[in-house]
Amino acid sequence: MRILITGGAGFIGSALVRYLVGQVGADVLTIDKLTYAGNLASLRAIENAPNHRFLQADICDRAALSEVFGTFRPEIVMHLAAESHVDRSISGSAEFIQTNIIGSFTLLEETRQYWNELEAAEKQAFRFLHVSTDEVYGSLGSTDLFIESSPYDPSSPYSASKAASDHLATAWHRTYGLPIVISNCSNNYGPYHFPEKLIPLVILNALEGKPLPVYGSGANIRDWLYVEDHAEALYLVATRGRPGEKYNIGGRNERRNVDVVHRICSLMDEARPGAAPHSRLIRFVPDRPGHDARYAIDATKLETELGWCARENFDTGIAKTISWYLENEWWWRPLRDGIYGGERLGL
Ligand code: NAD
Repeated sequence: MRILITGGAGFIGSALVRYLVGQVGADVLTIDKLTYAGNLASLRAIENAPNHRFLQADICDRAALSEVFGTFRPEIVMHLAAESHVDRSISGSAEFIQTNIIGSFTLLEETRQYWNELEAAEKQAFRFLHVSTDEVYGSLGSTDLFIESSPYDPSSPYSASKAASDHLATAWHRTYGLPIVISNCSNNYGPYHFPEKLIPLVILNALEGKPLPVYGSGANIRDWLYVEDHAEALYLVATRGRPGEKYNIGGRNERRNVDVVHRICSLMDEARPGAAPHSRLIRFVPDRPGHDARYAIDATKLETELGWCARENFDTGIAKTISWYLENEWWWRPLRDGIYGGERLGL
């Protein structure tokens, strides 16, 4: 099976590529622009695999995409390339509009042209998975859950750009018949997570004795999904999901941000007792503008229709994640020293 992955040098994309190449045995071509968030070190585990190739390419570059489709002839496209950090979208949204909207449009158009020329059986079997976020649905009250038909109500430039790309993907299915499935997932965490996001930032700041920033009162709730569980779900949705359908992916692990930070502190106390209590480093800082109060996914459709279920709960997943960061300084040290040192963005 030939699978084209966009954004495969990023956090979720690299977990997906490692899974497809190492465990599924698919023939994978990864394309990635290698922005600050793209990192070939995240693909080191499979760098000599005969069933994986990497190409540096921008999804906004139609000519490069045409070459990729013509030579690789994918049976499945899994589209993850995006600008993904909400705080960066607040500081400057242009790249988000460019990659997430124009880039997705360019990829959809190139896919449509390629797909139109396939033979009937290949056309029928072809799939395009558009990977999106639960943030497109906006903020929840204290009890309800996002379902696939929840209305779109994005709050940040990031989530608005993802919502726009979801609408394009849906339109390319309804109008042109392109066999597209869309997935909307909750907050991912796990190994190889760029240290601008809450969980790796807190782990690494705790390790270095630096302040642990908590936005506002820390009461915002996210529904945490272990990235390797997500990779398995994406493969299932791409291969067995019904074209034209959306699937919500979530770990059923809601936590307040402040509780996530406290949990990391207690595990760091066990791992580095000399520096305990790490909770003394917690600092409440000004909230993110437009900060959504709560996200929570109802994954019933994915669980019942495709038989998926998250293997990790938050306690097992966060313990694995912390161990991974403690053992893999080779991966994160160059990012902390050279690309992003932990300064506040998006105010
Ligand atoms: P990431 O920022 O870690 O990785 C994105 C990758 O896309 C990077 O490797 C980057 O180099 C690449 N990229 C950016 N612009 C590109 C372009 N123009 N052309 C080609 N490549 C480009 O993001 P992630 O966390 O791995 O997220 C992957 C996808 O999942 C995104 O579409 C994101 O919106 C979605 N998502 C992420 C989360 C999460 O918690 N991380 C949650 C829901 C949805």
